[in-house]
Amino acid sequence: MAIRNIREYGDEVLDAVCRPVTKMTPHTEQLIEDMFDTMYDANGVGLAAPQVGVLRRICVIDVTGEDPYVLINPQIVETSGEQTGNEGCLSVPNKTGVVTRPSYVKCVALDRNMQEYTLEGRDLLARAICHEVDHLDGIVYVTKVEGELQDVRALEDEE
Ligand code: ZN
Repeated sequence: MAIRNIREYGDEVLDAVCRPVTKMTPHTEQLIEDMFDTMYDANGVGLAAPQVGVLRRICVIDVTGEDPYVLINPQIVETSGEQTGNEGCLSVPNKTGVVTRPSYVKCVALDRNMQEYTLEGRDLLARAICHEVDHLDGIVYVTKVEGELQDVRALEDEE
């Protein structure tokens, strides 16, 4: 188990467009394992490779804690509907903001065996897929927030 350092917003590595993965290597397998460890350790539901400083088109997602997906070279091929709600990012700690995303997303990606598969997501999974694929294109959700970023700790204090 290896926890990697999560890069924070403002780090230019998060602004870069990532390169596709062309073949699976032991190095990349280790990266994927470490990304899961890092995501679970931080209580996140998704993590993209640039967030640990690697400019490759890889992300991991698990919105339930028991349904992990590896998406390599993911492409969103279909979207429908709309959802508006709060979003957060492990690279923007203790913040949340309102973002509108599709409520349904169909994504084609490679799994860790470099086999193509289709992942369909609704609601939170659809949101997570959009958020993580954005990271691979150098887009952090804060640029899509409607209104102001909120401080999560301040919101908790109000409750
Ligand atoms: Zn993020």
